[in-house]
Amino acid sequence: MKTKRSEELFERAKRSIPGGVNSPVRAFKAVGGTPRFIRKGEGSKIFDEDGNEYLDFVCSWGPLLFGHNPPFVKEAIARALERGSSFGAPVDLEIEMAELIKSLVPSIELVRMTNSGTEALMSAVRLARGFTGRNKIIKFEGCYHGHADSFLIKAGSGAASFGVPTSPGVPPGVAADTLAAKYNDITSVERLFDENKGKIAAVVIEPVAGNMGVIPAKKDFLSVLKNICEREGALLIFDEVITGFRLAPGGAQQLYSIEPDLSCFGKIIGGGLPVGAFGGKREIMEKISPLGPVYQAGTLSGNPLAMAAGTAALKKIAENPSIYDELENKAARLENKLKNNLKKLGLGFRVNRVGSMFCLFFLESEPLSFEDVSKCDVELYAKYFRESLNRGVCLPPSQFETSFVSLALSDEDIDFAAEVNYESLKRIFEQ
Ligand code: PLP
Repeated sequence: MKTKRSEELFERAKRSIPGGVNSPVRAFKAVGGTPRFIRKGEGSKIFDEDGNEYLDFVCSWGPLLFGHNPPFVKEAIARALERGSSFGAPVDLEIEMAELIKSLVPSIELVRMTNSGTEALMSAVRLARGFTGRNKIIKFEGCYHGHADSFLIKAGSGAASFGVPTSPGVPPGVAADTLAAKYNDITSVERLFDENKGKIAAVVIEPVAGNMGVIPAKKDFLSVLKNICEREGALLIFDEVITGFRLAPGGAQQLYSIEPDLSCFGKIIGGGLPVGAFGGKREIMEKISPLGPVYQAGTLSGNPLAMAAGTAALKKIAENPSIYDELENKAARLENKLKNNLKKLGLGFRVNRVGSMFCLFFLESEPLSFEDVSKCDVELYAKYFRESLNRGVCLPPSQFETSFVSLALSDEDIDFAAEVNYESLKRIFEQ
C-alpha cells in the first residue's frame, strides 16, 4: 500500500503541530506506522491522500452514526450557512436542538450546549459542586471524560494508550479531589464514600465504558450506584458522550432504565461538527448562569452550523427509531463473523459488543475493569491494526478504544471486514 504522500504530510505537520496531530491518538504512537492523512469520506469509507480506500470503523471516534458526509446533514449545514456562520446571539436552531434532546432523553429537563464533550463534563462537575457545596468527585479507572484537569486521573483513551493515565500538569489540589474507583466494583465505591463522608459532590461514569475498549457496566452495578448516590446526597452524572443516541434514542440510560441527575453528550449530537451538551433535572440546571450563580459560557456555544448538523442527525433518529434495529443487525453480523474466525483459528480472544460499539480484546478472559483490560497484549493489537489497515479496514489505533459500526455499512462491507479480520489474524499467528 502506497503511503508516500501521508508520510510527507506527517513530516511537514510535525514541524508546526506537536507530534503532527491535534489529538494524540491520531499519531499512531500506540500501533506504529504513519497516520493516514484523509482526503475525503463517503458513506462507509474514507480515502487517504495516496488514493487508498478504507472501510471506516473509527467514524471520527463516534459521531458518524450515519457514516461519512450523509446528504441530509450536508444540506442542513449549507442551509444554515446561507444565514451566516455565527452570531453570539440566540437562534431558533438552538431551541430545536434542546427540544429534540429533551424529547429523546426523558431525564433531561433543561440542557445547555457546549463546543465539546470535555466542556460538557467540566461544566457538569462544576455545577454538581456548586449545587451540593462539596468538592470531591468519584470517577472510574479507565473511563475518559475529556481532558479537563479533574478527569486526567487514572484516565482511559489516549491517556491509557500512552501509559500516562494521570497527567503531569494536574495540580495536586485538583488531583486530590478526584477519587478513582474500580469499574463494576461497588465495594470500591462504598469504600470511597465511607472515607469521604459528606464530601462527594458527584459520581461520574460512562454507563458503557468506551475508552478502555468496550466494557458494559453490569446492570445491578449502575442501579446500586444510583441508590448509593441518593443515600449520600451526591449527584450521579452519566457521561453519554459516546453512548448518547448511539445505543438507543435515549442512550445508555434508556438501555439500563436508570435516570441520572445530570447527563453529558457530544459526538452524535454534533452530526460531525464540534458540539457538546449537559443537562438534567431542572432544580439542578437552574443553578447555572444566568439563572443561578454557577458560571458557564461559550463564544461559539450553540453555533448555528453545529446546531444545524446536530438537529439533522437527531431528527433522523427521532423519526426512525428502527435505525437501532438496523444497527444491531449489522453489528451482530460482524460480531458473529469475528467470533467464527477466532474459533476457526483456534484463538480464545474476547469480542465485546454493546449495540454498535465493539472491541476485539487480545485477552482470553472477560474484562470487567481497567485492571483486566491492562492485561491485554497491546503488541498483538498493534500488529492486528496494521494488518487490517493494509488490507483496507481502518480500526482505532489503540487497544483502549471502541470500534463503531455505522448505518452506512452494507452487508458486503461487513463481510469484507470479517474477511480482513480472518486474513489479518491468520497472518499474525502463522508468522
Ligand atoms: N467523554 C467521553 C466518554 C469521551 O469518549 C470523550 C471523547 O472521546 C469525551 C468525554 C470528551 O469529548 P471531546 O473529545 O469532544 O472533548
